[in-house]
Amino acid sequence: MAEASRAAAVFSLPVRTPVTESRPVKAEDFKSHVHPDWCPGCGDFGVLNSLQKACSELSLQPKDVLVVSGIGCSSNIPGF
Ligand code: SF4
Repeated sequence: MAEASRAAAVFSLPVRTPVTESRPVKAEDFKSHVHPDWCPGCGDFGVLNSLQKACSELSLQPKDVLVVSGIGCSSNIPGF
């Protein structure tokens, strides 16, 4: 596979419908199409769900939220 087409295959991910400010933002609006690969029962699920819930309760728009992470399993939170 040519390098360009391989990159296109990797980055051809579904595009989420933008959240408009005309409806309430839900926690689900902050979820990506990538499912967490953490171990079953990992506490990172609770952190992720709480972060998404808090953002929705604060009526933040997904486009206005930036999550920065470090290393380790929890550092995948911005992708989920
Ligand atoms: S921190 Fe990583 S290794 Fe530990 S339970 Fe969560 S996903 Fe598994």
